[in-house]
Amino acid sequence: MINEREVQMLRCVLLLFALFNLGQLGAAEISPLADKPRWPALERYQETITRDDFTRLLQDVYATRGYDELIQINDDSARIVQDAAAQKFFTLRFANETPHRLPAQYWRRIDKLRRASAKRPLSGLNVTLDPGHLGGHWAKMEERWFQVDEKPPVEEGELTWRVAKILAPKLRTLGAEVSFARRHDRPTTPLRPDDFREIARQVLAKTGVNEPRPNYEADDLDKDKSIRWQSELLFYRQSEIRYRAKKVNMKLQPDLVLCLHFNAEGWGDPKNPTLIDRNHFHVLVNGSYLPDEIAHDDERYEMIRRLLSRVYEEELPLADAMAATFAQETGLPPYQYTTDTVAKVGTSGYVYTRNLLATRVFRCPVIYFEPYVMNSTEGFARIEAGDYDGTREFNGVQRKSIFREYAQAVTDGLTDYCRSVRVEGGVSPNP
Ligand SMILES: [Zn+2]
Repeated sequence: MINEREVQMLRCVLLLFALFNLGQLGAAEISPLADKPRWPALERYQETITRDDFTRLLQDVYATRGYDELIQINDDSARIVQDAAAQKFFTLRFANETPHRLPAQYWRRIDKLRRASAKRPLSGLNVTLDPGHLGGHWAKMEERWFQVDEKPPVEEGELTWRVAKILAPKLRTLGAEVSFARRHDRPTTPLRPDDFREIARQVLAKTGVNEPRPNYEADDLDKDKSIRWQSELLFYRQSEIRYRAKKVNMKLQPDLVLCLHFNAEGWGDPKNPTLIDRNHFHVLVNGSYLPDEIAHDDERYEMIRRLLSRVYEEELPLADAMAATFAQETGLPPYQYTTDTVAKVGTSGYVYTRNLLATRVFRCPVIYFEPYVMNSTEGFARIEAGDYDGTREFNGVQRKSIFREYAQAVTDGLTDYCRSVRVEGGVSPNP
């Protein structure tokens, strides 16, 4: 229990820290609010990866669109730029062969956990649920809010929360320990948009907006050039996710984070949204950094750290298996990206690598779900129907509530995977 004055002091300290980081890193290429890269922490990965493995992961998973001169692969080491301005480099020495034991991390591979019983295939598995966004009071600010006529508004942060609340007891029944990256009633970050006004001003100045307006109107086309909009973005997109990561990496330390989202396509005016016919699903794991992102010192560091931790070797088979089960149970077709920010991986047809903040800064395997188009006619009808027992008919098909279907499909996918790698006899014929 801490009192109001201590909370205020804590916020002051955090804010000073954020400002210090931004000021200090102004010259370097650092994303706003990012932690300073700690390259010495990667010394423990010396001689733990072969040249072939490093090159394959770098070129096929993480830096699929090139990495300029920032990483130089030599015969027995890689030379990685730490800080382009200061001409500092990190030298990673390659191993001749993959060592039997890799450096320990806080998360454990599922196939390395002790054997599990068929009844409790998730026993001992530590899972954190990350219900995407905030919802409620914050949903309009997050631009994760729309309303059709006088019907209840659709708020993604509330939908993801409802799924998480149904999912958690299901996973616990199967033996998992389950925690949450956020609570329902308040953001994880103690900071608020007003705390970021000065940083917002500096971010805008970097893009050439030197006398920004303080505020914006709802239908303002240039709202991204106002201090309020930028400080809100720093609050809900940067600070909130980075605080969830601090909670996950320092306190919860799970074996796996499941990021729960609902997808949408451009809906235009949130008070008169466009509904579309397309409904689809995909899953994201970290990778596919763009050259501009690799040029940021913090993102390059986090990319190399993820690569060396071999987290992708856990993420890909898990994501592929969970996506296949999810697709089978929901009947949703795979989403096809029209942008070049991703790369399709695996065999299910549903999994992509993409460099999102949430997939990057949680230091354990992260599976990021993007099912259902909230503003599709069917998705919207099912969201409006709310949660219910049994099934109801949509487009001639009997369906569980969208929240229960989502939670069950995630549970079944994870269960199938755990059975296949942890339970004697492999995949249960009757999942
Ligand atoms: Zn989302």
